[in-house]
Amino acid sequence: MNYGLDNWGNGNFIIEDGKVKLSAKSKPALVDMVKDIRKRGHTGPILFRFPHLIKKQIDLMYSYFNKAKKEFDYQGEFNAVYPLKVNQFPNFVKNLVKIGKSYNYGLEAGSKAELLLAMSYNNPDAPITVNGFKDKEMITLGFIAANMGYDITLTIEGLNELENIVQITSSHKGKLPNIGLRVRLHSSGSGIWAKSGGINSKFGLTSTELIEAVSILIKNDLLKYFTMIHFHIGSQITDIAPVKKALREVGNIYAELKKMGSFNLNAINLGGGLAVEYSQHDNVVLRNYTLSEYANDVIYLLKEISTKKGVKEPDIYIESGRFIAAHHALLVAPVLELFSGEYTDKKLIEKKSHPPLVQELFDLYRTINRSNALEFLHDSIDHMESLLTLFDLGYIDLQDRSNTEVLVNLIIKKAVLLLKDKHFKELISIQDRVQERYLVNFSIFQSLPDFWGLSQHFPIMPLDKLDQKATRSASIWDITCDSDGEVSFNPQKPLFLHDVDLKKEDYFLGFFLLGAYQEILGMKHNLFTHPTEVTIELNESSYEVTNILKAQSISYIFEDLDYDMDEISQNLSYKIENSCFVDTDIKNWILKEINSLLEDNCYLKNEEYR
Ligand SMILES: *Cc1c(COP(=O)(O)O)cnc(C)c1O
Repeated sequence: MNYGLDNWGNGNFIIEDGKVKLSAKSKPALVDMVKDIRKRGHTGPILFRFPHLIKKQIDLMYSYFNKAKKEFDYQGEFNAVYPLKVNQFPNFVKNLVKIGKSYNYGLEAGSKAELLLAMSYNNPDAPITVNGFKDKEMITLGFIAANMGYDITLTIEGLNELENIVQITSSHKGKLPNIGLRVRLHSSGSGIWAKSGGINSKFGLTSTELIEAVSILIKNDLLKYFTMIHFHIGSQITDIAPVKKALREVGNIYAELKKMGSFNLNAINLGGGLAVEYSQHDNVVLRNYTLSEYANDVIYLLKEISTKKGVKEPDIYIESGRFIAAHHALLVAPVLELFSGEYTDKKLIEKKSHPPLVQELFDLYRTINRSNALEFLHDSIDHMESLLTLFDLGYIDLQDRSNTEVLVNLIIKKAVLLLKDKHFKELISIQDRVQERYLVNFSIFQSLPDFWGLSQHFPIMPLDKLDQKATRSASIWDITCDSDGEVSFNPQKPLFLHDVDLKKEDYFLGFFLLGAYQEILGMKHNLFTHPTEVTIELNESSYEVTNILKAQSISYIFEDLDYDMDEISQNLSYKIENSCFVDTDIKNWILKEINSLLEDNCYLKNEEYR
């Protein structure tokens, strides 16, 4: 049982001795890292960052494009920038910039805040591209970046932005940024993130506007700054066909604009969109191409069009973010409770005589064995439904109803255990009806927002016990008070977890591929904040835990919402002062406890500080 690791794992993890391990020389197990970090006093959910997996993706991207360039004898340069919107957290961005230095890997910004980040962290000689809607202030920032010495391109989304540039230029002394034009393609991607392309998309210039833009540039003597055209047909493009279609379209636009006299136009920016395989199940594998195929298609098609139209082969810029960031982060969260855990033999209530159907359940439970397990399981569920109706009609009492619940859960557990070697399909058909609910110490709204908003699947697996068969069909509940905070069991994409006794052992779940978009989109529903994060640096023999950042405290989030912390503290101490506790020592102790709670995060600390 490897939880589809072959599909989504990217070769980053292996399973050995029943544990998920990093596929690095020293093969550290994730569960051991978790225990190590918990020993240092950090409990609740923990977000892991792995810089070696950032490096791996960057290396892959450059090596495949450079290989394709060589193979097709392509004359243009290959450049890449990382789009900050995908993950702006410092322990990711700073590592990425450092790792990308040798490639001259740059940054892409889509807002003033992101542009300021790029201006302070970008590698000095690496490119900066700026997309998104821009006001005069943002355009001015771009001019400042150019004068700091950055190779910066402002990509125009609409003609009004170009007019603003013209206006700012007229009173500006010093260097000017390069100008890019975003083209509105008629090709678009497919899937849930495909809204960025197509003629109805929010962004880009139509052919008519492109022609107008060039004439504005000529009129204002700015044509020499026009160096790039840009497109972006959407994120997570799983099908290669629309990419090829868009490339043909943009390649021809490039050639036409050059023929119209755009003498400094020398680059095509492909935007982002490179997909990540999130699927844990063979039947729903999504991405139909490899990076090698993507790089070859880009280089081959642009070469072909340039040759045919007799123009110079363009430099290529790519802004893929998801592909670079997704793999580097995973969340580990402890299971707090199995809902059936409370149903034990001891909870059964003996009565002088049980109603016949309840008595039948007792008999089923006593005599269930391997050969009758499936039949008994079905019978018990039928009986439960009848018994619940009998209760509603007033024929059985609350003790009978309780016995029903306990017995059916015990029968399910026993049956699942007896049937665990059965064929998977059969298990699934029963399991849909007899799910186990796992309460997990995390917030789906904070840590898996795209699951909440778009039903995007993220791989989930336990970190150990992988040498034992997982028999429980699982639905995962987070600790928010919101019924949307659930990853429910889906028979098409089943998740099986282990039947564990949490009184005796810990059980940790890993939520993988969370490095792209999830952290910044995460919501503070119920005031659960970004979890505690750690960075894991690998070395020859082992690993080092660095940059431990504790989850934000309760007082911090109150301040974030613009509460006055003094007011809150005063209210609480006044109310404790005037409470019905009489002992002053007790009052002081309570105040101290409350103050330390305010400085701690919101996640649960049940049992052994799980
Ligand atoms: C969002 C975005 C990207 C990144 O897209 P990914 O799918 O994450 O690679 C790149 N360029 C632009 C203009 C974007 O808006």
